[in-house]
Amino acid sequence: MEDKRSSSNFIRNIVVEDLESGKHKEIITRFPPEPNGYLHIGHAKSIVLNFELADEFKGKTNLRFDDTNPVKEDTEYVESIKEDVEWLGFQWDGLYFASDYFEKMYNRALILIKKGKAYVCDLSAEEIKEYRGTLTKPGEESPYRNRTIEENLDLFERMKNGEFKDGEKVLRAKIDMSSSNINMRDPIIYRIAHAEHHNTGDKWCIYPMYDFAHPIEDAIEGVTHSICTLEFEDHRPLYDWVINECEMKSKPKQIEFARLNLTNTVMSKRKLKQLVDEGFVDAWDDPRMPTIAGLRRRGFTPEAIRNFCREIGVAKSNSIVDYQMLEHFLREDLNEKAPRTMAILRPLKVVITNYPEGKVEMLEAENNQDKPEMGTRQIPFSREIYIEQEDFMENPPKKYFRLFSGNEVRLKNAYFITCNDVIKDEAGNVVEIHCTYDPETKSGSGFTGRKVKGTIHWVEASNAVPAEFRLYDSLILDDENDEDKNFLEQVNPNSLEVLQGFIEPNMKGLLGGEKFQFFRHGYFNVDTKYTSKDKIVFNRIVSLKSSFKL
Ligand code: ATP
Ligand code: MG
Repeated sequence: MEDKRSSSNFIRNIVVEDLESGKHKEIITRFPPEPNGYLHIGHAKSIVLNFELADEFKGKTNLRFDDTNPVKEDTEYVESIKEDVEWLGFQWDGLYFASDYFEKMYNRALILIKKGKAYVCDLSAEEIKEYRGTLTKPGEESPYRNRTIEENLDLFERMKNGEFKDGEKVLRAKIDMSSSNINMRDPIIYRIAHAEHHNTGDKWCIYPMYDFAHPIEDAIEGVTHSICTLEFEDHRPLYDWVINECEMKSKPKQIEFARLNLTNTVMSKRKLKQLVDEGFVDAWDDPRMPTIAGLRRRGFTPEAIRNFCREIGVAKSNSIVDYQMLEHFLREDLNEKAPRTMAILRPLKVVITNYPEGKVEMLEAENNQDKPEMGTRQIPFSREIYIEQEDFMENPPKKYFRLFSGNEVRLKNAYFITCNDVIKDEAGNVVEIHCTYDPETKSGSGFTGRKVKGTIHWVEASNAVPAEFRLYDSLILDDENDEDKNFLEQVNPNSLEVLQGFIEPNMKGLLGGEKFQFFRHGYFNVDTKYTSKDKIVFNRIVSLKSSFKL
């Protein structure tokens, strides 16, 4: 599908201005995930924005792991993030870890201490919070605020050497306890954590805080435009303070945009991890998850996700996007790519009593009626076929045009059949129906003798390949995205339905990742995890239609 270029937006305008004024010759952006979980569709918005912006102006984009919190981070997440960014279609210029800069960050902290701009504080976390004040009440200065530079240097070194326990001391920036911006009230910039780091092991037991580390990381890499989400708007003065006071040569500009929120979707790694850890889903890549890995396994395409991200654009105020908009771009892409075939999800056996026993004939079927270039395939037809249970009714309502006693329908790509008999088991359930066919009505023969109102799909029984179909509904029932609600109470208990049915014989040997449009049922993807040599498992990606309009 055609890639739709991003249109003008306020961030792009800033970039254009900075290039035209000569402030920058080349722009550098970055995508800086914390490796504490798998990426989700919200991250895709940031990835598309950063990579395409740099790409448009022949600049660079780094992938940087913001791994300054040893307790929550893991190399499994690092690997999954790299895989997801590449799958989305982007290639980073530099690949960096914030932890590679720990030494440099430490040295910058020393600069602050030597300038009298940072001090070691012994207040407990609780006390620091109390001293900080509120929006209406100014903060109070820490009793440790006026330690001498020598004392601070000594204590900070001893923090680094592991002489203190977690929480016993912190390093704080010395800014302004009465600032109207609470972030400027002597924020903590280093804390003690005796924990194994996925990259640096036990080399460090002090770790920089995000607000101190992030601007330094950006400046070290020469990032020109540091794009982040709106929650960081109030942190920008601190970002600039760190860049200036730490005497960084390069001066990146922080720009904030609204994060993506989707209806019926939780979008925080912490919450997604909870869904995995508490067994609500199989894993991070469960096809119900809004993670990139989950969407990929479900059958989403990178093109659909990219086009969605471009369409939602970037804005300065938060809003909730309808999940159906994402599905809209998915259908648009799959409609182009996915061959059409027939699958029976809830089988009902049909015996065509006037068709010769033992005979199997091959019929021709188009792979996409609207696209002859997608070719045709041969499908078998014989005396016994499967149809959908819902395509037969014993006592049909008005305007039911499918099979019922005495009615004639068209079998797609085959013949007209008429229902004559219904076979039931002792409990009264319909187990088989008997029909007759009219050889004159063969598909493609140009038969015009009479018309029928219903067309149903089918799969020949003796050659049918058994398959499992997994149908999904929203994982989260709430479409409000109310942060205060306990989202676990909103988990849909019926988000997965598993069915056993049949597919056409020429689909044998599918391995995983192949996408099809099943007549009437929607788009399906061969599951990469559960499909084996003995069993083909399909995920329904999305149904065929919705009322959503762009
Ligand atoms: P989460 O709360 O899901 O962990 P985060 O913002 O803490 O999200 P990071 O790994 O720090 O996740 O994010 C990497 C980048 O992705 C950041 O620049 C962040 O702004 C961006 N990002 C994260 N979530 C969204 C979202 N929903 N919409 C747009 N950008 C996002
Ligand atoms: Mg985070």
